[in-house]
Amino acid sequence: MDSWRFSHHRRLIALSTLLVAVLVAAVVITVHTMRQRQELSANYSAALDLAANSSTLRVAASELFTWQIAGTLGMLEGRPDATDAADPARQQYGDAIRGIDSVLGQLATGPLDTAERAQLDQARAALAELRRLDAAIRTDYASGDETRMRDAARTATTTGIDQYQVVSESLSQLALRLDERAGRLGDENEQVGMQVQLLVVSLAGIMIVALIGLLTWAWQDGRRNRQVISQLSDEAALDPLTAVANRRRWDARLADALRRGRADGTPFTVVLIDLDHFKRFNDTYGHPAGDRQLQAMARLCEDVVRRGDLVARLGGEEFGLLLTASVALDAARVVERMRPLVPGGETFSAGIAEWDGSESATELVARADEALYAAKTAGRDRLQLASR
Ligand code: GH3
Ligand code: MG
Ligand code: MG
Repeated sequence: MDSWRFSHHRRLIALSTLLVAVLVAAVVITVHTMRQRQELSANYSAALDLAANSSTLRVAASELFTWQIAGTLGMLEGRPDATDAADPARQQYGDAIRGIDSVLGQLATGPLDTAERAQLDQARAALAELRRLDAAIRTDYASGDETRMRDAARTATTTGIDQYQVVSESLSQLALRLDERAGRLGDENEQVGMQVQLLVVSLAGIMIVALIGLLTWAWQDGRRNRQVISQLSDEAALDPLTAVANRRRWDARLADALRRGRADGTPFTVVLIDLDHFKRFNDTYGHPAGDRQLQAMARLCEDVVRRGDLVARLGGEEFGLLLTASVALDAARVVERMRPLVPGGETFSAGIAEWDGSESATELVARADEALYAAKTAGRDRLQLASR
């Protein structure tokens, strides 16, 4: 009992430890997963930004060229307002340059690696040079002096276009680098996403395994407890020598039969059996042989009664039969069947009492005992029905 309690205690500690471990694992994995998810979404928006910036740069560069050519054509045609701020081509050209400038400025404030930063600086320098050149061309063209105007137009078609090429080239290099990094971030995203999935799956796995473990454990525990309990209750209710019921169970079953009889009138009968001259048997064959005889007698009783009836050892060589749903004459038939089957041709006497419908268990057993005594005094090896 003590060792059982001890192992029960240890089991509880092990269960709680397992539970705490699972909870800790769940918390750790959840926190880790949340961090991963944050990283994932940061990566994702960074990649989107980079891709957007790179395509903005490409589009802006091609627009810049369109409006630069349009302005240059105006100068070649000698239109006096070709470089006026109000000229539509001029306005669009300015917008394109400002657009590029703002994207570059935005990129400069973000996280860039060394190569990207160098490329950005180069693009900004190229753009600044283009603006400087453009301003010079514009000043010349706006001077009204024909030679200067012609020179300006020529510069616009040569150096101006060349510088545009430099700007365009460095912008597309920068866009390429941004695309590359967006691609890398996308790959990382995928990896992080897979890690998150793996973590979630492992967490679920751990939980399921732990749950199955806990349930199995609890089930085994319950089964062992039930076994111990049923073993203990058997031990408490059985006679150790013959393995039939002891007096304790006899009393309980008698009370049950009485309750049932009172409730629905079901009859029942008690038989008390006492081996004849058993002291002599012991003296003749020895105590161990006496024990075997008692065991054989118990088996014999069990063989003749019906399922649901009870055989009990009530004292040294005295047995009781509780025959449910039986009247005295049924009981007499049962006893008569036993008589020739006792090993070694030994005999027994029996007292039979059918419940009278109102008496107590004690009164019923006392009547059976009186009948048994009468059978003994009448010469043994017989049965006696109790008087009412
Ligand atoms: P009677 O016919 O009047 O019943 O005579 P009896 O000898 O059977 O009755 P008595 O009460 O004088 O003796 C009962 C004997 O039963 C005495 C005792 O040694 C024996 N006995 C009681 N319990 C056990 C047991 O567990 N094992 C064995 N071998 N003998 C037992
Ligand atoms: Mg006896
Ligand atoms: Mg006796």
